[in-house]
Amino acid sequence: MSARVLFLSHAGVLGGAELSLLDLARGLGGRAHVTLFQDGPFRERLDAAGVGVGVMAASPGLLGVGRGGGALSSLRSVPGVLRQVGTVALQARAFDVLYANSQKAFVVAALAGPLARRPVVWHLRDLLTAEHFGAAHRRLVVALANGLAARVLANSEATAAAFVEAGGAPGKVRVVHNGIAPGPFDAVTEADVRQTRTALGLGPGSVVGVFSRLAQWKGQHVLVEALPRLPGVQALLVGEALFGEDAYAAELRTRAAALGVADRVVFAGFRADVPALMKACDVVAHTSVAAEPFGRVVVEGMLAARPVVAADAGGVREIVEDGRTGRLVRPGDPAALADAVAALLARPDAARRMAAAGRDAARSRFAVGAMVAAVAAEIDACAARGQRGDLAWGVGALNLHGGDGADAVRE
Ligand code: UDP
Repeated sequence: MSARVLFLSHAGVLGGAELSLLDLARGLGGRAHVTLFQDGPFRERLDAAGVGVGVMAASPGLLGVGRGGGALSSLRSVPGVLRQVGTVALQARAFDVLYANSQKAFVVAALAGPLARRPVVWHLRDLLTAEHFGAAHRRLVVALANGLAARVLANSEATAAAFVEAGGAPGKVRVVHNGIAPGPFDAVTEADVRQTRTALGLGPGSVVGVFSRLAQWKGQHVLVEALPRLPGVQALLVGEALFGEDAYAAELRTRAAALGVADRVVFAGFRADVPALMKACDVVAHTSVAAEPFGRVVVEGMLAARPVVAADAGGVREIVEDGRTGRLVRPGDPAALADAVAALLARPDAARRMAAAGRDAARSRFAVGAMVAAVAAEIDACAARGQRGDLAWGVGALNLHGGDGADAVRE
């Protein structure tokens, strides 16, 4: 069967989760519709890709629940969540499956699914660890998942393991790695690279790029702090503060000035031409100081055929084979980052071989087609079971204490 799926996403901006959903919805074609809780550039990109999309504005209370949020902020958001639940439940009746792409969307979907008698799939793209989220927050989303989700799709083994560690039912979770299309990377020409470097005002020296929204945990400061150990090397910071981390963005400039490296740091802001920018770099660095759930930028650096130096934690370990397809270094350690970068720059032939191995691995292991096929199969299995289970499913789903979830979806 080709089940119809209603995707829910809270964010209107373009982070990794949204870019991945863009590929998914595009891959699923006419059977997919996306409802966003906020308008913004994500809606424009979905529109441009021909994906059916609408905006159902959420209360600020709902959008305020987040990273590190405690029980109090969750409680304050209750009226807003309930309003959103009712509206989503009505809309969901026209679809076979309700699919949440973020935690905030999942809270709404988990409650709307039983009302609409539709199975709920949660695409879990966060590490539910103490490093990232408060205990009350983790307990809430895990209880909702155990009781009300038909399936939890984790974007890495690390994300799946953290879900189970937080009390999530192991039988509910499947890993689907993100897929990323190589086409835009292959299309970049030498002329594009030269033009990009000139437009950015980059000098002739080597360039190390970080491609992430500016946020403390994304660790751009680690590269800035590595620069004094890398004479002549320039840092290209691509991304902007998407979720209110403006103070960190300002701190980065202050830190660069204090270290005397400000003239070697280029802030490019948010950019839609990441493939050309990555190819304008000699090394692509991933500097997150907290474990990354997946790390699209790492796969992208590999697809750009650039040697990648990445922080050794979380989902990134499933992407990079240290020493063969890239380098893994201790997170938050500017000296380790500087050493790895210096070694790659000192041995360009070895760096090229590593980049080529990285590109081949990324192409074969993180294909968009494989991701879409895996997600489509899960959606269809959930839809089939949702139809069979009918009311019995709804009653069973309300077992908020979970169990091992082995009665989730059977294909
Ligand atoms: N990105 C972008 N423009 C920017 C900075 C980042 O399009 O200026 C993209 C980047 O190419 C990647 C995504 O944002 O596809 C970030 O995904 P990742 O998994 O690395 O981190 P997340 O944002 O999900 O935490």
